[in-house]
Amino acid sequence: MSELKLCQGPKCHQYHTKDRLKGPKDNKTYQTRRRSSLYYGSGNFCSMQCYNDWAEEFIDRAVDHFGRLTEPKHLNENNAWYKDYSWDSSYQSRSYIMRNDITKEQRPITREQYNNESYTLNS
Ligand SMILES: [Zn+2]
Repeated sequence: MSELKLCQGPKCHQYHTKDRLKGPKDNKTYQTRRRSSLYYGSGNFCSMQCYNDWAEEFIDRAVDHFGRLTEPKHLNENNAWYKDYSWDSSYQSRSYIMRNDITKEQRPITREQYNNESYTLNS
């Protein structure tokens, strides 16, 4: 049996739904939801409500912890690369490319580079 994940919503147990009511017949309590998979907030929350409850309580500390922006970011030729693909009708296959949103330059990349989430030309 797969490991069950607990919803990380701080108020999950406060929502009165039948599926949260657990325990022995004479001592049921509303409990945090446990599921084999959760679909919100990268698999950490059972619902958008729980995701929002978490954000309301912790988002300021999370942003401070991971680095609050103090100046606007600028899109320029060094960080404007993004992945794209097009249909190559002569080869009947996809061709993968990096496009630069500023310079409009295009560079071919391999399918492996396209699928590699950490592959980038941005600096
Ligand atoms: Zn929840």
